[in-house]
Amino acid sequence: MKSSNGYEIYVHIPFCVRKCDYCDFVSFACGADVHKMYFDALLRQIDETAETVGRVPVVSVFIGGGTPTVPDAQYIMAVLCKLKEKFDVSPDAEITIEANPNSASVEKLKVYKDAGINRLSIGLQSTEDNELKMLSRLHNYEEFLETYRDAREAGFDNINIDIMSAIPGQTIESYRRTLERVVELNPEHISAYSLIVEEGTPFYERYKDGKGLPDEDTEREMYYLTKQLLHEHGYERYEISNYSKPGRECRHNLGYWTRVPYLGFGIAAASFDGEKRFQAHSDLKRFCAGDFSAETETLSETDAMAEFMFLGLRLVRGIAKADFKKAFGRDMDEVYGEQLNKLATEGLLINGDQVMLTDKGMDVANYCMSEFV
Ligand code: SF4
Repeated sequence: MKSSNGYEIYVHIPFCVRKCDYCDFVSFACGADVHKMYFDALLRQIDETAETVGRVPVVSVFIGGGTPTVPDAQYIMAVLCKLKEKFDVSPDAEITIEANPNSASVEKLKVYKDAGINRLSIGLQSTEDNELKMLSRLHNYEEFLETYRDAREAGFDNINIDIMSAIPGQTIESYRRTLERVVELNPEHISAYSLIVEEGTPFYERYKDGKGLPDEDTEREMYYLTKQLLHEHGYERYEISNYSKPGRECRHNLGYWTRVPYLGFGIAAASFDGEKRFQAHSDLKRFCAGDFSAETETLSETDAMAEFMFLGLRLVRGIAKADFKKAFGRDMDEVYGEQLNKLATEGLLINGDQVMLTDKGMDVANYCMSEFV
């Protein structure tokens, strides 16, 4: 990998208490012995990578999963110490950990805070206990509230809450209750995704024909309600599914959408050096045995330009033509003039020095992105 002015780091912790029925992330329920083997391997992988890339500057760390709060907190501490030992982690780096209620005790949260983690992302999904049950989540709303209070008590002043729409049985009214209760808690950031029924999950077998899921019109209504209600409560949308208080956007994800290079550690983690992408395998046994191999994909210039467009246009602020020129030495209009004009004529895109989707364009973002692929 080539060196760079600043890397992001993603660490994948693939452990969960139990697999949720809708989940297609690389995650497993394993015992403490497997946790130990995994973290031992993870530390070795960080050592090996540092030998290759050198002591690169790091601007953000994201510890995701799985549920990183499931294993002993000392393991997370060891990973952070190792990252700081091997890389030049900026003193003001954003360091996030994902947490689920029921596995994030106040003691654990305090250990994370002391270890330098300064952002917490809590998976709530819904404040309705029947919907949480439907998703086979292990917590109820009350337990989430406890975790949220514990997080504030532990000193976290930058918290994201994940919520979900289009859950089986969810109605506009119940989704509105979720939104209202969440804004009442006043987190700094809210991620609002729609449930996707992924092939290979138990949900796929149950809902592949769409029966039992909110219909398309209801789903659309939920989408508009999210935008409107969160805006009324001081949350600005900065990406298709992400909302924050001013200045509290997730810096790590912003980096991902603007193609900042990143190093991935753990099974199934991807890395990107600005030109090539590396996709690690997802075999836990192989990883614990020290096989850190990854498939390399070299992006052609056409792929890289397309990626620049469809990742950047996810952001409400869009992309600067000057940045495109800097990245590829070519004018955006010369490469994508036709597509930009078409989308602008359809009222879906603003085609100035800064290119961005209109509100209407954001609503049909998949259609707009497909123009660039
Ligand atoms: S907690 Fe998250 S990662 Fe774990 S099984 Fe459930 S959805 Fe998947």
